[in-house]
Amino acid sequence: MKPAKFDLEKSTDLGEAISALGQADGFAKIVAGGQSLVPMMNLRLAQPDSLVDIRALHDLKRISLDNGQLYVGALTTHAMIEDGLVPDATQGMMQRVARQIAYRAVRNRGTIGGSVAHADPAADWPTALLALGAVAVIQGANAERTMPLGDFQIGAFTVALEPDEVILGFSIPELSADARWGYYKVCRKPGEFADSIGALVIDPARSFARLVLGATDGAPLLLPPSAADKIASSGADGFDIAAARAVIAEAGATFEEYETQIHGAALSRAVQGAFAA
Ligand SMILES: Cc1cc2nc3c(=O)[nH]c(=O)nc-3n(C[C@H](O)[C@H](O)[C@H](O)COP(=O)(O)OP(=O)(O)OC[C@H]3O[C@@H](n4cnc5c(N)ncnc54)[C@H](O)[C@@H]3O)c2cc1C
Repeated sequence: MKPAKFDLEKSTDLGEAISALGQADGFAKIVAGGQSLVPMMNLRLAQPDSLVDIRALHDLKRISLDNGQLYVGALTTHAMIEDGLVPDATQGMMQRVARQIAYRAVRNRGTIGGSVAHADPAADWPTALLALGAVAVIQGANAERTMPLGDFQIGAFTVALEPDEVILGFSIPELSADARWGYYKVCRKPGEFADSIGALVIDPARSFARLVLGATDGAPLLLPPSAADKIASSGADGFDIAAARAVIAEAGATFEEYETQIHGAALSRAVQGAFAA
């Protein structure tokens, strides 16, 4: 199928893009890599009246590592992270996450900002960035604002973004030398969307410990801090599928039996992976 008719505006200026979104006649959408939006338009699941192409916006291409904060512009592609063009502030975690997304042609065009804005429950960045404690940097018509991903990600395909707001990028705390992470994606074939994702980040220098379950039916689930703190202090011993299932139950999340088992396996393997030699 082909998409419904739409207008296309290629923006070269951030203010211009925001005005185009705010003043559009009808339903306007940003397009970045087009790897999620365009398939949805082809299936006519999305029928925007106009697209604002942001790929030329320099404000969204900044990458920096200063004072323990990695900043990754929204237009950074999965392939750029995979190829090490972003400073490794996460001890290889972001590189590993990027490498497991889809296949190279998708990674060449798909962007980290597009992935988070799209908020597909089965996508990788929403879970990985929540586990890392990332903050979204957002530009609206009048002001820039920041929001931790835990607040920004509301549900399946839903984020706290106004129609005329643009994600500029993400601020991600640099992991210290003693930090540990584990990331385990359950999918039928390499590079497919996930059936489950377990992510653990522990950084003793910042007293930071987060255990996140992804590929639920909604936004990634930040599991009770007590579970992550216990793993941080006692290690992975005993954190098997049954223990992971108990943490999911403690969080009040309910899934079909086979989903609970897959989620338990993803979490336990992420935890075991964080403590592997
Ligand atoms: C075959 C295939 C397999 C895939 N497998 C995986 C996978 O295993 N894991 C995974 O995580 N993803 C997967 N994806 C999705 C892929 O990672 C997309 O690149 C990503 O989800 C969207 O990024 P994009 O830049 O292409 O966004 P687009 O498709 O251009 O846009 C997606 C949405 O985000 C909005 N948007 C984009 N940029 C911004 C911004 N800066 N500010 C505000 N809103 C914005 C758009 O308006 C749109 O609503 C797959 C895609 C395909 C086609």
